[in-house]
Formats: sequence, structure tokens, C-alpha cells
Amino acid sequence: MKIVTIFKKDWSKTIENLKRDYRLFGPVRENGFHNFKELDETELPDLDYSNTRLSPKSIIHPQSEVMFEYSLDKGNKDHHVLKETDKDYSPRTIIGIRPCDAAAFLIVRRNFDTAECKDPYWVNAYEATTFVGLACNNPSGTCFCTTADSGPFDEKGLDLLLVDAGDHFIAKIISSKGEDLIEKAGWEPGPDADASADRIKIMKQEAEAKIRSFVATDKLKDKTTRDLFDAPFWEDVAFSCINCGTCTYVCPTCWCFDIQDEIFGRSGIRMRNWDSCMYPLFTLHGSGHNPRSTRMQRVRQRFMHKLKYYVDKYGDGIQCVGCGRCVRLCPVNIDIRKVCGMMNSHE
Ligand code: SF4
Ligand code: SF4
Repeated sequence: MKIVTIFKKDWSKTIENLKRDYRLFGPVRENGFHNFKELDETELPDLDYSNTRLSPKSIIHPQSEVMFEYSLDKGNKDHHVLKETDKDYSPRTIIGIRPCDAAAFLIVRRNFDTAECKDPYWVNAYEATTFVGLACNNPSGTCFCTTADSGPFDEKGLDLLLVDAGDHFIAKIISSKGEDLIEKAGWEPGPDADASADRIKIMKQEAEAKIRSFVATDKLKDKTTRDLFDAPFWEDVAFSCINCGTCTYVCPTCWCFDIQDEIFGRSGIRMRNWDSCMYPLFTLHGSGHNPRSTRMQRVRQRFMHKLKYYVDKYGDGIQCVGCGRCVRLCPVNIDIRKVCGMMNSHE
């Protein structure tokens, strides 16, 4: 196992080095909240944060993304041709991503990168990215990652894991992409790798012990889909939902999008935008029929997808990494932990 020590006094210099080789994305505090953005020449990632409001999924899957452009103007030599929009897939790094958010990309990958179908935009962006995680020394009260197949020091989906150890970071190299990044940053192996590895183990145990929030998922697989679908609690669960879509927009494991054309005079673009199963238009058919026309049906869909359909399809976990965003940010306090408990114990 390779371990590197990065002293915080050298931090800005190493970030400068990284910007020479990568487009660098990191958490930045703006308007009172931390969110991920591409760092400009002078910006440093602010790693003194708990978790961002929005997950970093937009770095790989932008909220709005232009796919094609076209012109209907016969004076244009390429008129009526759908032209692919140029993209920048040069190497990029997300620095300071929380382990749960990195693990979420592996769940989402099952939708965008399969043997039958590869979404070129998602796959190219994902493969161009090096993921530098930041271990959670102090998980929030709403985090339940340890019962959602992740954890505050989870290494799944990461190339490098940074552990904040006071005046320095301990960096654990996980993949060859992580190794390349270490070289480009000019980080040198630490003086005592064994002691650092032991310290990571202790800090990991301490962080995991701080998590007080859990979900029970052990019986979901054995439930009959129809029984859960027809369970009597859905009306109660959905009663206060205002279908605002916040839970799906902030969620690192929600991937739905819609494709539409925007026309400006004789030219246009074809783009995709995040969509949400919580919106009435999401399933509206051209005929006018809507199979999920009620609020209860939409709320049920969100939870059934994450906690039953996904479970049955893949057989290894739920479509949730326990980041707690939807719990914190739902304006009417609908809580996936509670709903999961109801589904898991439904007879
Ligand atoms: S955030 Fe809450 S109120 Fe908004 S759609 Fe989701 S469950 Fe409903
Ligand atoms: S469902 Fe909620 S807790 Fe789970 S990953 Fe999405 S936002 Fe986080």
C-alpha cells in the first residue's frame, strides 16, 4: 500500500501543480454553502466542509448538456445535419469528493455503462476523471452510509483517499490513476508509511463509530414486489410531499434525464436535462395518459426504485449510498430511513 504525506503548508503549491495537468474541480463555499465547481487559476478547494448541498454528479452528468446542434438555414452548408457538439474530455480531477459520493458513481454507472449500451457523454467524462476522496472524520447526524454499502473511509470508486490528520493529509493511493496524480502533484512518499496506515485504520474506526443513523435493508429482497407496491403506508408517506423534486436533484444516485430541442430562429440544439420522477410530466404520454398521475404514485415510484426494483435487479445493495441529503433537504421531512424501515418490516 502506498501512502503519501502532504503538509498543509505546501497545499497551494501542489494544487497549482495539479492545475497544469488537470481540469480541477473541488468544493468551494459560495453564498453560505459548499458546492463543487471547476476551480479557476487562483482558487483552492475548501476541504473544511461536511458535505455539499448538491452532489458532485453534475461534473460527470451536467444538469443541462447540449448534445447536438443543427441549422435549418439553407444558406448554411451543413443545414439539416445534426452535428455532435464538441466536448472537453481532457483529464479532470475531483478533489475532496466524499467517499459516499464517489461510491454513488458506481451505482449510476450501471445505468450509463453496460454491455448493451454505453452513454458516450457519461462514460467519456467518467473515464477522464480522477477521484480524490476526502475521508469523513466527522459524519453528519443524517449520514447512514455504513448501512448503505459505503462508509466514511470507503475506497470504492476512488483513485486516492485523503485523510485530514491535522497539519497534514495522509494520502492513500488506490489506483494507477491515483499514482499518476501523485506524481504530477509532486507529492513524495511519507516518512513512515506503516504508522500512517495504522493511523488511517484508527481514524476509520473512530469515524464509523460516530455514525448513529441506520437503515435496515436485509429483508427487502425477500419481499414480494406486489405486496410492497400495494402496501397501505404509501398514502401516509406521500401525504405531505409537494413534488418539488429536491430529493432527486440532490441525490448522487438519481440519474434520470429528459431530451429536448431548443430552437432559436433557424438554428437549434438538442440537449438533455435532469428530470425527476417526482414531477407529474415525467411519465405523461403523448396520448395524454399518465400512468403516475397522482402524488402517491410518484413518491412510491422513487422509493420502490431505490429500495426494491434496484435491489431485485442487481441483488447487491440499494440505490442509495446514505449521504443523507434527501433527509436534510426535503422541505417536509420525508425520510428515506423511515420509509426503508417500513418497507423492510412490511408483512
Ligand atoms: S424533497 Fe420531499 S417534498 Fe420534495 S419531492 Fe422529494 S419527498 Fe417530496
Ligand atoms: S436517496 Fe437520499 S440518502 Fe440516499 S444517496 Fe440519494 S440523497 Fe443520499
